[in-house]
Amino acid sequence: MPEFSIFDGHNDTLLRFYQNDDVTHSDFLRGMDGGHIDLPRAKKGGLAGGFFAVWTPNLEDRIAPDSMPDTSKPYTPPAVERGYALSVAHQMTADLFRIEAESNGQIMIVRSADELQSCIENGVFAAILHFEGAEAIDQDLNALEVFFQAGLRSLGIVWSRPTIFAHGVPIAFPSSPDIGPGLTEAGLRLVKRCNQLGILIDLSHMNEAGFWDVAARSDAPLVATHSNVHALCPISRNLTDKQLDAIKASDGMVGVNFATGFLNEDGAWDSDRGLDVMVRHVDYLVERLGETRVGFGSDFDGARVPDDVGDASMLPRLTAALQAAGYDEALLHKMTHQNWLRVLRQTWKS
Ligand code: ZN
Repeated sequence: MPEFSIFDGHNDTLLRFYQNDDVTHSDFLRGMDGGHIDLPRAKKGGLAGGFFAVWTPNLEDRIAPDSMPDTSKPYTPPAVERGYALSVAHQMTADLFRIEAESNGQIMIVRSADELQSCIENGVFAAILHFEGAEAIDQDLNALEVFFQAGLRSLGIVWSRPTIFAHGVPIAFPSSPDIGPGLTEAGLRLVKRCNQLGILIDLSHMNEAGFWDVAARSDAPLVATHSNVHALCPISRNLTDKQLDAIKASDGMVGVNFATGFLNEDGAWDSDRGLDVMVRHVDYLVERLGETRVGFGSDFDGARVPDDVGDASMLPRLTAALQAAGYDEALLHKMTHQNWLRVLRQTWKS
């Protein structure tokens, strides 16, 4: 058994089933070649579960959501049509239900912090249903009510493209995240209803204006599930010091993203630069946010990650690198799952 149970802020594993007809639920449960997460590799690496993203691919390309090889030009795909996004959301959400059902109790979709805590304590792989972009939600928020009842507990108002609610941050290097306007009127209503229902609002793909609109309106801790430090890697997807200070003030948190293009200071997607780069981002975040506001948000199955932590089974290398850098056991327990539990308990109110 690995020493640390790592609960993770972001994966795109559901996208593997959606985009590859030959990847089956049983491959996930029994183990498979390729990809970053399956159940045997999760057990081996101490991956206790994570946010499972439902994300709608643009029809004109089949890229993974965070794996753009060329960010030298700002990348903003066009908006996707709601009917299409809704059908994708149904399929990917149903896939998660089916995997849970086929797992014989090894996997549970969690809807409360108590459920998450119990899963971590008992070695049940915990999944949070997360929408990465609200394209499937209508402006009357009917779909939000329905998906909440189905288990939706986390929502990114945008991926890096526009919706009826807000404008996503184009992916660009080097670039400030301050690109484009903030939330629409419907977006402000969405924030309010998420607060009332206890759905976490994920800020990771927001532009800066949208970030500040959420910060001004939301009564929940501010959370970026899978983002890094702009001062260390100046890509538009990363968080500025001012944004980090607002996250701290709200008692929110940041999940450190393993995507190499969001880690490397030159924005390159090189995966062979060692774990020091990740340790630097963690150091910066712990210094700026405090020990209780940093976790992980791997982006496994959605991005090119460092070779040294190339899939879920290799996570102990990351905690070992942090131990070597002076992080003690108590702090690593916080970063690996206790901080997520704390923020989710505050946000979900159950
Ligand atoms: Zn993402």
